[in-house]
Amino acid sequence: MKEIIYNKRKIQLLKDYDCCVIGGGTSGSIAGIASAKQTLKTIVIEKYSILGGTATAGLVTPMMPSYVDEMEIEKEINLELQKHGDKLYSPEYKELENYSKEDRPEEPISLTWFDPDKLAVVLEKTLLKYGGEILYDGTLCDVLIEDKKIKYVIIMTSEGLIAIESKCFVDASGDALLSRLAGVEVYTGDENNKNQPVSLRFELGGINLEKFYDYMISLGDDYCRSKLPYYTFMVTHQGRKQVLEPVLKKALEDGVITKDEYIWLQGFTIPSKPGHIAFNCPRIPTNNNSTDIFVRSNAYIVGREMIDRYYKFMKNYVKGFENSYISKVAIQLGVRESYRIKGRKELSFKDYINRKKSNDAIVKGDWWIDIHKDKHDVDEEYTYKYKEYYEIPYECMVTNEISNLIVAGRCISSDFRAQASLRIQHQCRSLGEVAGYACKYSIEKDVELNEVLGKELKNYMQKG
Ligand SMILES: Cc1cc2nc3c(=O)[nH]c(=O)nc-3n(C[C@H](O)[C@H](O)[C@H](O)COP(=O)(O)OP(=O)(O)OC[C@H]3O[C@@H](n4cnc5c(N)ncnc54)[C@H](O)[C@@H]3O)c2cc1C
Repeated sequence: MKEIIYNKRKIQLLKDYDCCVIGGGTSGSIAGIASAKQTLKTIVIEKYSILGGTATAGLVTPMMPSYVDEMEIEKEINLELQKHGDKLYSPEYKELENYSKEDRPEEPISLTWFDPDKLAVVLEKTLLKYGGEILYDGTLCDVLIEDKKIKYVIIMTSEGLIAIESKCFVDASGDALLSRLAGVEVYTGDENNKNQPVSLRFELGGINLEKFYDYMISLGDDYCRSKLPYYTFMVTHQGRKQVLEPVLKKALEDGVITKDEYIWLQGFTIPSKPGHIAFNCPRIPTNNNSTDIFVRSNAYIVGREMIDRYYKFMKNYVKGFENSYISKVAIQLGVRESYRIKGRKELSFKDYINRKKSNDAIVKGDWWIDIHKDKHDVDEEYTYKYKEYYEIPYECMVTNEISNLIVAGRCISSDFRAQASLRIQHQCRSLGEVAGYACKYSIEKDVELNEVLGKELKNYMQKG
């Protein structure tokens, strides 16, 4: 067994990795798969017990639709999900999405309507199939830097601390934790450092979905138009005159829910889980702070109390939920936005508005600026039309400070508003795929990760 001295103690060293991915979430699991598929010796370090992060441990489903092409690994994962009974998109979804009628194509490319539990299994199997290793229950807690490179990451495990040595490192922690520990500068929140609110997602089971559907239609709902068993959702934003708002109001007056539950309710059915709905709430009041550790810890406590109130409301006020029960509460808090690295380039709101294209672009995006707020509504701003997109430059994923580090997922370099578009799962997965390929390119061509040219990497990826 190899060892190093860390803080005057001998700790175990795992070495000879080409690619070490911190965080096996939405982007990190795909980064690990891409890297392993490219025959790199790859290890993914994940603090929870499943891959998929916000999409699985956080119960965030479905993936929002995009008209931008899927990359290779994303296609592979989606096809595998389809074999397990999940749908790439709902045939009815085209009735519901944001694009104007004239510009609406026949089929959105990547609304992925999936069951989080199945996604976790598919990701794990795919990573292992390509020879990638996973270390669950492994939490990044420190780094050692030498000559502007990460030499080791220090991981807390059930055996105590261990060190991992690797040629390349991917920061897919969502919170830019590896980058921050390595001394990379970061931003947080908007111009006043205010973050988007966090959510703790949950699922209810035992629902009579047909009865619920008929009830929604009888109330005159025009969101819940998609026929069962396809993707169906309910939504109530305070003040938008949606059909459940008067029902929520009654529950508010009766003291069953509080104002915090009243302002926002959203739920989606889950493929191959009859009688279940995944709720995209509660949105937990945090005074727009998602970085303070105690605020986050408290959000689990408050979130569970809010879930209990939502449950009582659904069961007692909404037809179809009479026999329902709480079947799952997320083990990972849903953090929309926390830290973002200051990379070599930054994707800005202006770039979003201008549908900016770039020479070193590696990922396209077309989701709207989706900013949730603590106390009131969601900003649904500046939606794109079909075939419009912006591009994310490769240099948004790398930093000046550390040469063997690449960042993937919601914490790449962007301003607050641009992040509110690029954070959706489709883009995070694409960023993960680029990160995995970039590690291969960097090692094969002997170029530092932060010196790779986006244009050349794109050609390399296209050649496969
Ligand atoms: C409430 C909510 C609703 C959303 N709704 C949608 C939606 O409907 N559709 C959509 O497409 N997108 C949605 N999004 C956005 C999207 O799900 C996320 O932005 C995206 O999944 C983030 O991916 P990521 O890879 O950056 O982070 P994550 O998927 O969160 O992955 C980060 C991973 O790093 C791990 N990690 C963190 N710290 C450490 C550590 N120290 N050591 C080891 N591992 C660590 C975590 O456990 C996790 O697995 C939503 C987000 C939220 C929060």
